[in-house]
Amino acid sequence: MRLDNKVALITGAAGGIGRETALRFAEEGARVVAVDLSHDAVAAVASEVIEAGGKAMAFAADVSKASDCEAMVAEAEAEFGRLDVIFNNAGIMHSGDDDAVSTDESVWELTMNINAKGVFLGCKYAIPALRRAGGGSIINTASFVAVMGSATPQVAYTASKGAVLSMTRELAVIHARENIRVNALCPGPLHTELLMKFLDTDEKKQRRLVHIPMGRFGEAREMANAALWLASDESSFTTGATFLVDGGITSAYVTPQ
Ligand code: NAD
Repeated sequence: MRLDNKVALITGAAGGIGRETALRFAEEGARVVAVDLSHDAVAAVASEVIEAGGKAMAFAADVSKASDCEAMVAEAEAEFGRLDVIFNNAGIMHSGDDDAVSTDESVWELTMNINAKGVFLGCKYAIPALRRAGGGSIINTASFVAVMGSATPQVAYTASKGAVLSMTRELAVIHARENIRVNALCPGPLHTELLMKFLDTDEKKQRRLVHIPMGRFGEAREMANAALWLASDESSFTTGATFLVDGGITSAYVTPQ
């Protein structure tokens, strides 16, 4: 199996991409530490993994808090003896996130604290554990909006994902000789709760869909498969990558109708 003997910690594991990735990684032999805000929600995902024949544990943590991030990594090592992969995937898209004029400072701060600082803290505490394991793979969820502007304004979200992408590149360079790879998964628009809540009318959904050459939203399972490749040794020469999995949206100038 592609993740045999590996221990993988996934944040934002109660829903969307994180949940699918927990299931997918476990199918490939990983022992999964599923992390999210609500213990009940993430325990349900860990139970799903176990019922499907995999190995998983649940841990409640807020990735914007240093003590929680330190504790989640410590728990992974205590329970499973090592850490090989961290998928810093938790993120929010706030309904009050708009253009620079309309967005409250509090929305900016909350978004940056979870989406950008949360990734920094995940790396801060996971890197020493990856060193102890002899190396590993860090996958940070950025977004296609880190490389192109969105017609539907979400300035805090976009800035936070830009921070994730540039932080990923720098960490990749710093840790390359320690056998620690760091890559950014940049999903296109997905059919998950996060985006469907934000694009809450058919008109808003259509405005986004019209830009996607494939003519549909992506599925969380498709991101889980991309993360699987980055987590596995199959991607052993890949670090610092902007891994766009986006139905072609960032390649399109005019989309087929
Ligand atoms: P989702 O809302 O289904 O899942 C996100 C999870 O993160 C939730 O379970 C939520 O509880 C958790 N979370 C939020 N704040 C947290 C915190 N402080 N600490 C711990 N967990 C927290 O969304 P998704 O679509 O699966 O998104 C996953 C990642 O993918 C996010 O970083 C998102 O920005 C990114 N992304 C999503 C899309 C999309 O179109 N859905 C596109 C590009 C990037």
